[in-house]
Amino acid sequence: MKFDTILCHYAEVGLKIGNRRFFENWLKQNIKASLLTVISKEEFDIKRIHGRILVELKKDISKNKENITRALSDTFGVAYFAFAKTVSQDIKLIREESLSILNENQFETFKIKARRPDHRFLLTAQQVNEDVGAFVLSKINKTVKLNDPDITCFIDIVQGVSYLYTKKIIGPGGLPTGANGKVVGLLSAGIDSPVATIMAMKRGASVILVHFHSVPMTTEDSIEKVKQLTEVLRRYQSRIHLYLVALAPIQKEILVKTKEKFRILLYRRFMIRIAEMIAKKDKAKALITGESLGQVASQTLGNIAAIESVSTIPILRPLIGLDKQEIMDLAKQYGTYDISILPDQDCCSLFVPKHPATNAKKQYLDQEENNLKIDDLMKEAIDSIEYVNIK
Ligand code: ATP
Ligand code: MG
Repeated sequence: MKFDTILCHYAEVGLKIGNRRFFENWLKQNIKASLLTVISKEEFDIKRIHGRILVELKKDISKNKENITRALSDTFGVAYFAFAKTVSQDIKLIREESLSILNENQFETFKIKARRPDHRFLLTAQQVNEDVGAFVLSKINKTVKLNDPDITCFIDIVQGVSYLYTKKIIGPGGLPTGANGKVVGLLSAGIDSPVATIMAMKRGASVILVHFHSVPMTTEDSIEKVKQLTEVLRRYQSRIHLYLVALAPIQKEILVKTKEKFRILLYRRFMIRIAEMIAKKDKAKALITGESLGQVASQTLGNIAAIESVSTIPILRPLIGLDKQEIMDLAKQYGTYDISILPDQDCCSLFVPKHPATNAKKQYLDQEENNLKIDDLMKEAIDSIEYVNIK
């Protein structure tokens, strides 16, 4: 089929009655940004039409169809999309085009599925189904099957024209990334946090990334991995910022001045504090981590509470109820897994205590921190922040 349009249908966006326009605009901008990664701005126009985002193709982009499919499949808020052909609202033309589009496929059974939000068109959707169906039957020897046919010819009669297509391509669902505000995602080089980040994006949050490294006590591997992960995350959020923070000076102080069993929890508290400062500066409203309950010693309820007590903004944990296997499956699906499993030296694997506290209390950690010059350490860390421009 020679298509000239891509129709993008949204999922829940349509349900947000009060601010539907707002979500639609976000989705439109995000679709545009995704398409610009694979075709040029001269090749398409994009607009909102009744309940859909319409991409009008100004050139033949057939050779890029696969790339476009991939880009739209990564654009949250898209429930499904279709490469369609525009036909004027003339039932004779609609009949002919439906027949010719169907004829491009191998099938025995078919159905016509019209929708007519444009009530200026005088036939109802059902009348269109019957009319076009009868026409097709009169021309070729096939059977109508309403339930699970081999092929469906969709006819969307919208805003002065009609759009014909036979394939709905399932999108990723969710809400347009950015429409629900900003958060700061704590991105390690592991498997979990990239997935947590993408899940937040899927629910409409735009994520600012922060990674803590222990260079020069470790190699730069985790930094390299996080940059690569950010490249993947960019598929889901085209404008993305990554901050790198040197945790080594803080870790050195913790190593010499606090009890061994609390080390990791104290590292974590500083991560939260620094991430929160970044959030305040960039007007983000929450933090995101890849924690899931009970997965490792630092993720018991007690420890989670003791760590989180230093934050004044919510910490969201999209993976809280997932098993490791489920998280790994998502990581594979989203394309982060292969990078996450590359070897690196994690900042928290440095000088891991033999017997880490599994149920620390806020007051124990507060007490340990009395031995630290928190403000000075924070200032040093903030001054070390490096901003990475991912191209
Ligand atoms: P991940 O696979 O995301 O590393 P994990 O199962 O290894 O998670 P932890 O190492 O306990 O769990 O880390 C819990 C969360 O703390 C991570 O998911 C991440 O959000 C945050 N975090 C841990 N280390 C770092 C780091 N070096 N930089 C930024 N955030 C981190
Ligand atoms: Mg980790």
